[in-house]
Amino acid sequence: LVSREAKEENTIVHVKDVAIGGDAVTVIGGPCAIESVEQVMRAAEEVRRCGGKILRGGAFKPRTSPYAFQGLEEDGLKILRIAGRFAGLPTVSEVIDEASLELASQYLDMVQIGARNMQNFRLLQAVGRARIPVILKRGLSATIEEWLMAAEYILSEGNSQVILCERGIRTYETATRNTLDLSAIPLVKELSHLPILVDPSHATGASRLVKSMSKAAVAAGADGLLVEVHPEPCRALCDGPQSLDPEGFEVLMKELAPVARAV
Ligand code: PEP
Ligand code: MN
Repeated sequence: LVSREAKEENTIVHVKDVAIGGDAVTVIGGPCAIESVEQVMRAAEEVRRCGGKILRGGAFKPRTSPYAFQGLEEDGLKILRIAGRFAGLPTVSEVIDEASLELASQYLDMVQIGARNMQNFRLLQAVGRARIPVILKRGLSATIEEWLMAAEYILSEGNSQVILCERGIRTYETATRNTLDLSAIPLVKELSHLPILVDPSHATGASRLVKSMSKAAVAAGADGLLVEVHPEPCRALCDGPQSLDPEGFEVLMKELAPVARAV
C-alpha cells in the first residue's frame, strides 16, 4: 500500500487546514518537551509569527535514561492544545503506547511515532485503526525498507494519513548526534507516495547545524521540516543543545524561503 506501484500520485495529508505533501514546504516547530504553559505559549507565538504551520511538543518522553524527565503526560497534552488554539496552529505530539494514543487523539490533531517505537507493531496497528494523521519517524538503525514496512502496518489497518520523517540514523560518526541521511528523501519519493519530512534537530543534535541541514533537506525535495524551538534553549529540560531560540528560528525561516521557491 505504501509503494508507488500501489498509488502513483503523491499523498497529501491534511491536518486541519494544513496540507503536507503538496507544493508548499510545511514547517512544524516547538519544544522537545512540554514544560509549562508559559514555555509552550511563547514557542507557539514564535512558530506562528515566523511562518511555522504546526505546533509540536512532547508530553510522553521515552528518554534513554529512566531518571531523565519523562514528560507532563496528560497535563502536557492539555497545555499543547491550549497553546495551539491560542496561536491558531494544529498540534502534534508523540505517543508511546495505546493509552497515550487514546489520550492524544482526544486533545490533538496529529500524533507522532518516535524513532524508538518505529517497530512497535502493536502501536503501529493501533494508530492504523485510529483515524488521525501520523508522523512516523525512522528508527535509530532502520533501513528504508524496514521503515516503509512499518508504515505499511499503519496503512494496512486503514489509516493512509501517514507522513514519514527522516531524523538521522546511527553510524560510526560521533561528532553529530545522528547522521542525516539526505538520500532517503529522493529514495523515499521514488519508492512511495507518502510525504516525507526531515527533523534536522535530532539528526544533528546541534542547533548551529540545523539551518544548513534544513536547507539541504528542502533542496533534496523534503515536504517539510520538524524543528525543535525553545524560548530559552539553555533552560530546556530536554534537547536544549539542538533547539533553536526564537531568533534562530526566524533566521531559518527567512533563509529557507528562497530555497523552497527554487525547488
Ligand atoms: C522527538 O521528536 O522529540 C523525538 C524524541 O524524536 P526521535 O523519536 O526522532 O528521537
Ligand atoms: Mn527532542
